[in-house]
Amino acid sequence: MPYKKYDKILVINSGSSSLKFTLFCMSGETIMAKGLVERIGTDNANLVYQRSGEKKSEQGIAAENHGKALAMACKMLITPGVGVLKTLQEVKAVGHRVVHGAEFFSEPVLTTEDVKATIKKCSDLAPLHNPANLDGIVACETVFPHVPNVSVFDTAFHQTMPKHAYMYAIPQQFYDDYGIRKYGFHGTSHKFVMQAAAEYLKRPVAELKLITCHMGNGSSIAAIDGGKVLDTSMGLTPLPGMIMGTRCGDIDPAIIFYLARKGMSIDEIDNVLNKKSGLFGINGINSGDMRDTVNAAAQGKSAAANAIEMFGHRAALYIGGYYTLLGGADAIIFTGGIGENSHPARKAIISRLAAIGCELDEEKNLEIFGTLSPVSTPKSKTPALVIPTNEELMIARETFRVLSEEMKK
Ligand code: ADP
Repeated sequence: MPYKKYDKILVINSGSSSLKFTLFCMSGETIMAKGLVERIGTDNANLVYQRSGEKKSEQGIAAENHGKALAMACKMLITPGVGVLKTLQEVKAVGHRVVHGAEFFSEPVLTTEDVKATIKKCSDLAPLHNPANLDGIVACETVFPHVPNVSVFDTAFHQTMPKHAYMYAIPQQFYDDYGIRKYGFHGTSHKFVMQAAAEYLKRPVAELKLITCHMGNGSSIAAIDGGKVLDTSMGLTPLPGMIMGTRCGDIDPAIIFYLARKGMSIDEIDNVLNKKSGLFGINGINSGDMRDTVNAAAQGKSAAANAIEMFGHRAALYIGGYYTLLGGADAIIFTGGIGENSHPARKAIISRLAAIGCELDEEKNLEIFGTLSPVSTPKSKTPALVIPTNEELMIARETFRVLSEEMKK
C-alpha cells in the first residue's frame, strides 16, 4: 500500500489575506474536503467549507492571523456531521504552494528552518506572495506540530530552462548582483498537464515536445522538451508574456520611462501595468474577465472583440515561436479557467495555428468544458488538447514524493 504512511495530505495555498486548503486522501487521489478563509486580519473574516460531494457552507469567523484561520478551518475537518476526520492526527503531511524559489529550489523540498530562511530571502522577488506563503507554513507548524511541511515552488519546474533562454540582454552585473533573470511561474500547473498529456498520449515525458498554455487570470505559455522547460513567457515577475486579466504582458519597456516622464510615479505605473491593463484595460468594459469580454463582444462591442483577437494573436506568437525552438510539437495543451472553458478564446488562438499543422475542430471546441479532450481535427499534425489542471493534487503528489524519498535516506 504505497500511500499508507502519508495517506491524508493537506494542501495549503496561503495568500496575504486568504488561506485555501484542500484535504486529499492519497490512496484514491480524492478530495475529502476543501475551503478557504478570506479577509484574514479583518473584522469580517469568512470561512467557506465544503465536504466532498456536499454543498458549500459559509460563516463569519474570528481570524486575526493565518494561525487562527487555519485552526478554525481544521475545527471543521473534525466536527461531527460536517467533518471528515476523527482527529487532526490523521493528517500526516502538509504541502504548501510557495511562489518564488529563485535559483535555490529546482525541486519541492521538506521545509526545514534553512528552507524557511531561504524562502524569506526570495521575498525580494515576490514581495506579495512569499511572506504570505511563509505565514501558511508557520500556521501549520502551530496547528500540526510534528507533521512535515513540504514546499512546492511555482518557479521550480522552470529551473530546467537553459541559460540562453533565461538571461536577459541587459548588463550581466544585474544578474550577478540582483539575480535578475527569467524565472517563470505556474510551474506546478505546466508540470501537471505535461504528465497528464504523457499519460493520454501513452508516451514517456522524456520523448515528448509540448507547448503548454496555462490561461487564467494570469496566463503563461511554456515550451517543454523531454520534461525540461526550454522557455516560458513569464519572467522575473508574472507581468510579461501573454495578455492577462489585468496584467499587460509584453510591452515596450520604454513605455515605462515615457509614462514616468509624463509625471506618473513608479508605483502608479506598477499599479496600471499589473491591475488596470490586459483585458481590463482594452475591452472597453473595465473587466478583467474573459467571460465578460466574450459577452461584450457578442453584444457588438468592438473593443471587446479586438481584445479577444489581441489575446489570440499574442498566444499564437508564443506558440509559433516555441514550435520552432522545439523543432515541432506532439501537442499544444490548453488549461486554466480560460484554456479549459472559453471556446471563443481557444478559437482566437487555434485559428492562427494552421502553419504549424493545428486545425480547430469547430464542433468539438464548442462542446468541451473542463474535460480532457482534443479540440483539433483528427487530421491535424499538431493536436490541440484541453487538459484540466489540478495544482492542488500536483502539490499533494509532490509532497508524497518528497517524503517518500526522505524516508529512503
Ligand atoms: P486564476 O488564474 O485566478 O486561477 P482561473 O484559472 O479561474 O483564474 O481563470 C479565470 C478566467 O477564466 C476568467 O477570465 C474567466 O472568465 C475564465 N473562465 C472561468 N470559467 C469560465 C467558463 N465557464 N467559461 C468561460 N470562461 C471562463
